[in-house]
Formats: sequence, structure tokens, C-alpha cells
Amino acid sequence: MTYQSGRHFLQIPGPTNVPERILLAMARSTIDHRGPAFAELGLEVLTGLKGVFKTEHPVVIFPASGTGAWEAALVNTLSPGDRVLMFETGQFANLWKTLAESLEISVDFVPGDWRRGIEAVVVQDRLVADTGHRIKAVCAVHNETSTGVTSNIAAVRSAIDAASHPALLMVDTISSLACMDYRHDEWGVDVTVSGSQKGLMLPPGLSFTAVSPKSLAASESSGFLKSYWRWADMLAANEKGFFPYTPATNLFYGLKEALAMLDEEGLEAVFARHARHAEATRRAVRAWGLEVLCANPEEYSQSLTAVLMPDGRDADAFRSVVLDNFDMSLGSGLGRMAGKIFRIGHLGDFNDLTLGGTLVGVEMGLRLFGLDNAGGGVDAAMDYLTEVRRA
Ligand SMILES: *Cc1c(COP(=O)(O)O)cnc(C)c1O
Repeated sequence: MTYQSGRHFLQIPGPTNVPERILLAMARSTIDHRGPAFAELGLEVLTGLKGVFKTEHPVVIFPASGTGAWEAALVNTLSPGDRVLMFETGQFANLWKTLAESLEISVDFVPGDWRRGIEAVVVQDRLVADTGHRIKAVCAVHNETSTGVTSNIAAVRSAIDAASHPALLMVDTISSLACMDYRHDEWGVDVTVSGSQKGLMLPPGLSFTAVSPKSLAASESSGFLKSYWRWADMLAANEKGFFPYTPATNLFYGLKEALAMLDEEGLEAVFARHARHAEATRRAVRAWGLEVLCANPEEYSQSLTAVLMPDGRDADAFRSVVLDNFDMSLGSGLGRMAGKIFRIGHLGDFNDLTLGGTLVGVEMGLRLFGLDNAGGGVDAAMDYLTEVRRA
């Protein structure tokens, strides 16, 4: 390996670039997780997270990747043999489904084409047809990271209500929390799952779960065996800022800093920034003569943009050209999109110039890859970003 000067551009849609403030905040001695100083830190981050989820109810932190929180959501609220409704929005929806099935949960899976989000009318139809209320939960991925398509969670909630169905609503916000508007309480979500390594700008290693009173009530009659993932033990210890087992103390230092940064910028400004960079990216993609995978403009992701390669051109070979020449990592196509798309992550610690550098790398990469007409994208993005600043 030769030394690569300059900073590596980690433009995959998570893990994201960890800002220096967070890195430095974590560079401290680990403290006694049963001591008084820890309790203060614990209470501070547990309270701060509520603001990010927009909830007044508890948020559980497991030392785990997001997948752990997926599993915890299911084993705390359901029983083996229960039925859930899920939607094939992309690879992460597929993975959550596989996880559910391996727990012997039976999944009604609504097929999808990976270019659109969940259709509320389908949710309503499926629930109305479920007259015996066998479906115990509706599980939705808010921002499908494999496709750059979002689903309208408020509309999913309305559909459940319109069907007068008692199912719990569970939502994966792993790549949307702290990037896009999200309201756990107002949208009547029962379980919201997230992770540390995307919008929250932390290294991987923490998962977050916002739990509603209804999901807590369901957890009292859950039939799954569990121990590590039991919410009740967590919540009892959390009341005083402690944890039933060793928490990831140094990541908590980082989390405290991340919450302070989000607070200083203001969540609404954070969302507007993500929306701006996403729009600039889409303009660049169109100028290059390429197509954004998301087919419905109302469902564009603000965290990432998935870009279709022209037929017959391998997206992974293109990604290698960019990595080899410019030391930038772009996201690969997952599952059925493997080789067909590449994904540009524009979430987390990000500004106009980081986006500029990212798009410059993509544009030069496209030309090196032989798409000689791929020009003008960076200009289109600059025009837009300048216009927005003038306005
Ligand atoms: C990243 C991601 C996951 C997986 O999270 P891990 O932390 O890798 O377990 C799940 N869902 C979505 C939407 C994601 O973006």
C-alpha cells in the first residue's frame, strides 16, 4: 500500500465521515460505568436522543449495529408464529424480512420494484382484509439505503388508522434519523430503530430504539425468549442513567458531542442542508446524462442518491476507477441492483465543498471510465448551491 495524501472521501451512505469534534470527544479515558460521573453522561445522552426522535418516551441504546435493534424490536413486542406486514422497498427491507423469518415470524411481504416507496393504499387494503387482526405489526424502512427512496411514514400511519387496525408500527430510520424530518410521537410510531454510524456522525457500534407506551405494553406479553435484548432491563437501569451491562462508554462521549452539534446547528437546518445537497446531487446526475434510481420525486432520499449506470456498464468497475484514482469510496449496488447502480452518500458531517469534492470525483471518474460526455454535473450543482445562497 502506498501512502495516499489528503483525506479519504468516505461517500458511502454509512458509515459516514466522523467529524474531528466527535473523534476528539471520544479520545478520553474510559470511566466507571457504575459511578456517578457515568450516570450524568447516561442521563444526558438518553434525554438528548429524545429530541432527535421527537419523542417524549424512552429511547433504548444497545451496544450493537442497527441489525441488533431490528431484532430487539421484534423479540420484545411479538411472539413466535406472529404475522407482520413488510414491504419490498429494497435490500434493507429484504434483510429485515429474513431476520424476522429466522425468528419464526411469518411475513406478509408486499413486492416492490426498488424504485418506489410504500404505497399507503396497499397498507390499508392489506389491513382491511385482515379481519381477524392476525397481523401484529407493520414494519417499514423510512429511507431505503439500497435505493435512495423514502417512504411516507405519516401516510402509513393514516392507512393503519383508516383500517382501524391495532397493529404496531415499526420503522427503520437507520439512514434517515438526523438527516430528514422524522417524528416518532406525532406520526404514531411504536418502535423506531436507528444507528450511530449514519446521520448521527458517530463510528459504528450503537443502536437506538424509540419505544411507545403501546409497544411497551406489548412487550409485557411477548412470547420470545430473550435476555441481552430485553427492553425492560434496560429501561429500569436507564432511569438513573445506568445500564444493565457495560455500555460503550467512549461512544457515549461521541454521542454527547454529536447531540451538541445537532443542537447548535438546529435539526431543521440539518434537514434543510441535507435536502440542498441531495438536490444539487440530482442536478449533477441529470447533467451527466444519467438517471436517478428513485422514480418518484416526492420520495427522493435526502441522505443518498442511487444512480443507474448506462446498460452494459458495470457500476462496480466504475467505483473501482474512482477509488483507485481519487481515494473516494462510493456505495455499491446491493442485492438485485448489484453492478447496476452506484450510490453517493451525502449525509452526516457534510458541507457544500465536501459535496463539491465528491461530485468532482464522480465526474472525473465517469470520464476516465469512458463516459466521455459526462460533463457539466459539477457546474449544475455549483449553480444550484450558489443560487440557494443568494436567495
Ligand atoms: C445501514 C442500514 C441498516 C443496517 O444497519 P447495521 O448497522 O449495518 O446493522 C439497516 N437498515 C438501513 C435502512 C440501513 O441504512
